[in-house]
Amino acid sequence: MDFQGKRVLVRVDFNVPLNDNSEVADDTRIQAALPTILAILKKGGKVILMSHFGRPDGIRNLKYSLLPVANRLKQLIDNEVIFAEDCIGDSILALSEGLKTGSVLLLENLRFYKEETAGNENFAEQLSKLGDIYVNDAFGTAHRAHASTSIIAKYFKSSNRCFGLLMGAEIDNLKKALVDGHSPKTAIIGGAKVSSKIDVLKSLINKVDRIIIGGGMAYTFIKANGGSVGNSLVEDDKLSVAKELVEEAKNRGVELILPLDSVNGSEFKDQASSSVTDAENIPDGEMGLDIGDRTISTLKEVIKTSNTIIWNGPMGVFEFKNFENGTKKIGEFIVEATINGAYSLIGGGDSVAAAKKFGLDTGVSYISTGGGAMLEYLEGKELPGIVAIAGE
Ligand code: AMP
Repeated sequence: MDFQGKRVLVRVDFNVPLNDNSEVADDTRIQAALPTILAILKKGGKVILMSHFGRPDGIRNLKYSLLPVANRLKQLIDNEVIFAEDCIGDSILALSEGLKTGSVLLLENLRFYKEETAGNENFAEQLSKLGDIYVNDAFGTAHRAHASTSIIAKYFKSSNRCFGLLMGAEIDNLKKALVDGHSPKTAIIGGAKVSSKIDVLKSLINKVDRIIIGGGMAYTFIKANGGSVGNSLVEDDKLSVAKELVEEAKNRGVELILPLDSVNGSEFKDQASSSVTDAENIPDGEMGLDIGDRTISTLKEVIKTSNTIIWNGPMGVFEFKNFENGTKKIGEFIVEATINGAYSLIGGGDSVAAAKKFGLDTGVSYISTGGGAMLEYLEGKELPGIVAIAGE
């Protein structure tokens, strides 16, 4: 795209954590937007950045000001960074029109207006006046039909809107895994609850060859298959859905792999006395908190022989030292498979946190930055932020 002399309005995700002194505590998301910002500046554009920050619920509350982000951004780039104390209005329009080539303008938090999350057209149109070109680089909010992530796009001709580099990479990598990836394709789905992953599982059954189920959600499946799971996390109202998913996988020829053995604790804490039993034979009074060694060796073979691997959700309570082994080992097998040529994608808050905790994050092909957005993409849903750019 030709950015020369143009005002380029970029939706970024600057929803970063702050420390007690109201300084940016973790600038990962700011760093992630830099390639797009610098590419536009290099091509002679003027950058106008907009983002949400926290949940001010439509009220101007300076606790949620983006000023600390502007201060951090100033430290990261050599260009001039101007902070605008609002995101719409005549004075902000004047600021955007007076912006010099090579300068960056960061608008105040979009969510100071309830119209942002409501997807209000008038608000979106006012924002659109601030740019000649619209770029969406906020994959983390791509599943929301908000004013700045989706509605705004229609005020730009299709030749004047595009994805940013981060969002482009997210889409390319998800496609690589789900559409273009080579078989055998394996999805590893874990985490606490089946209820939050039902749609993901339903969708993946049509897209992959094997599904490994681990973490707390596995026990609902084991109970549905007639096993005894003691005090393990179980969603009794999801037993029939679990059965249906097992049946559906069988009908489609998808291998659905459940834990064979389980590392159990007497209570939900790290120092709980622990035992290892068959996953379908957990004694009363004990709860499954990790997968056992037999499961780990089975999964090693499955992962080793996969050409495409998608991982969402830990295999156990990886936050507890005594129950981290399964998650850690699975991460190591994925890294090994990647070294041997497999394509691997990790996404979803907790699996990314787990991979980082065990230092495995640099050994996989791609780590998605979008938790909810990635899950909805895996569910096969059309994301409003993608459709808005890519549509007519
Ligand atoms: P989710 O957000 O659904 O991906 O769930 C992540 C959480 O699931 C992590 O905080 C894990 O500690 C938790 N988890 C994983 N395995 C178990 C288990 N067997 N029992 C209870 N919680 C678990």
